[in-house]
Amino acid sequence: MIRDIQLRVLPQQAASDQSIRSSVAEEVALELRRIQGVRVLKRSIDARQRQIFVNLTVRVWIDEPVSEEAFPTIDYPNVEGRPQVIVVGAGPGGLFAALRLIELGLRPVILERGKDVHARKRDIARISREHSVDPESNYSFGEGGAGAYSDGKLYTRSKKRGSVEKILNVFCQHGAQTTILSDAHPHIGTDRLPRVIENMRNTILRCGGEVHFQTHMTDLLIEGDRVVGALAEVNGNENVNESENGNENLNVPVPTRVQVKEYLGPVILATGHSARDVYRMLAARNIEIEAKGIAVGVRLEHPSQLIDQIQYHNRQGRGRYLPAAEYSFVQQCQGRGVYSFCMCPGGFVVPAATGPEQVVVNGMSPSHRNGRWSNSGMVVEIRPEDVSALTASFPDDGSAAPEIEVLTMLGFQERLERLCWQQGGRRQTAPAQRMADFVNGRLSYDLPESSYAPGLISSPLHFWMPSFITSRLQEGFRAFGRKSHGFLTNEATVIGVETRTSSPVRILRDGETLHHVRLRGLYPCGEGAGYAGGIVSAAIDGERCAEACAADLSNI
Ligand SMILES: Cc1cc2nc3c(=O)[nH]c(=O)nc-3n(C[C@H](O)[C@H](O)[C@H](O)COP(=O)(O)OP(=O)(O)OC[C@H]3O[C@@H](n4cnc5c(N)ncnc54)[C@H](O)[C@@H]3O)c2cc1C
Repeated sequence: MIRDIQLRVLPQQAASDQSIRSSVAEEVALELRRIQGVRVLKRSIDARQRQIFVNLTVRVWIDEPVSEEAFPTIDYPNVEGRPQVIVVGAGPGGLFAALRLIELGLRPVILERGKDVHARKRDIARISREHSVDPESNYSFGEGGAGAYSDGKLYTRSKKRGSVEKILNVFCQHGAQTTILSDAHPHIGTDRLPRVIENMRNTILRCGGEVHFQTHMTDLLIEGDRVVGALAEVNGNENVNESENGNENLNVPVPTRVQVKEYLGPVILATGHSARDVYRMLAARNIEIEAKGIAVGVRLEHPSQLIDQIQYHNRQGRGRYLPAAEYSFVQQCQGRGVYSFCMCPGGFVVPAATGPEQVVVNGMSPSHRNGRWSNSGMVVEIRPEDVSALTASFPDDGSAAPEIEVLTMLGFQERLERLCWQQGGRRQTAPAQRMADFVNGRLSYDLPESSYAPGLISSPLHFWMPSFITSRLQEGFRAFGRKSHGFLTNEATVIGVETRTSSPVRILRDGETLHHVRLRGLYPCGEGAGYAGGIVSAAIDGERCAEACAADLSNI
């Protein structure tokens, strides 16, 4: 007999299959030996009271062996010789679009400006070590996209449960741990993601698809009202040490454009929110896009033990059986939302710039989330109409490129990132301030230890960041401190700046057919197109674009 049962147990009782089996036997009043197998279908932590409980939904095999796989797998067909579709970008949007195209009998050809997920690691390490950012290979660009070196959090607000399950199953089929299928807040971890991404690439190649790294799409090939392909520069990177002429950016790789190639087919454009050259190309080509609201602020880093103490109501912290604690805050401040974003318990703050003269921070964490710090983005909602109030506070240093209106949000992001780079000492060192000092408008004389590898420099963020943002963050932090005693503290560090929370531009597409509003054969996809935010929603959007493209091709 197979039964699904609900359990509410102590953390230590939920720690292993063995202890769960014992709890199940007690709950259903059966001898332990009759329980032949258990599988956790759902797991969530209830930390509202002093005594923490774990809620489990468990499938139990009584008097019979476990008879089903943990997740369904997809048998991907060979698509050699089938019509090809160009997928620009190998982030979650592009990779899931490619896998879905294969399922539908089409041949994906992926163009990716960055390197493969392993080679990319070296460039990421150099950002912290040498303060140099390769504009083609960094935390946002390269195989796996912005999701590759992240926390790998896989929860989404998407209500399409079926689609979310499918995405999680595909991750498991490619090597992700099966706990992501049951955890209320699943995450893979930055240590495990690269292998999963590599396995996805191998599926695509094995089925007859193509993956081209260091292949930077520069233009679309358009005939009448149809996109028929993409133009790309195939790059070879050379490291040029410019130290002799005094350039501060040592070992900045200078891209050598070796070849321009045409790739023919409909185009799924999944280039992410940091591909500013793509937005500028679209604007210059008069391809319909619009400015979109974003959220901007700082990374906030606490000692993870402090967050555990607060969230688990226990001075001892989380103990042996609980994971590093999470939090989530939201507050309306002066008519705009202020909220925590992309929380990374037991994680690191990372330098996420994609070009020179930018400091941008983000967060990631390993699968065990066992680091000494916990961080999250703390951001303020900004609308396109807010931009003139925001930019008024910038020094006029000539850095602001005159932008057409649809790119104003992007221009604002760029100016703030450049200002942050200047305040950080014109390196990847990030300007930072103790949290209570930030709230009280005081300079910090020293800073707490931090996970941010390139280093922090004490700086009055309350003074030089636009007051539109800082006054709301200050108000929000006070409110969060009232909700959670101990959260507002000088043991925490505010680190500037978090600007890449979502796309500053939306590439307009038809709600039903998903192709661009005017151009058939072009499928703006994922976060960069403004239709997703996060790994799972970008992946779902990738699948949807692949389906839309297949439907269109079958009608030609
Ligand atoms: C450090 C960090 C941590 C994050 N943590 C999480 C998390 O835990 N959970 C979560 O849900 N989300 C997280 N995110 C956000 C998440 O990664 C993105 O929402 C998601 O990756 C978007 O997917 P995408 O495929 O739309 O775009 P992207 O992942 O940005 O992928 C775009 C790809 O296109 C390529 N590209 C760009 N321009 C071109 C061009 N011209 N030619 C060829 N290729 C091009 C890029 O190199 C890149 O690989 C994190 C992001 C960062 C930076």
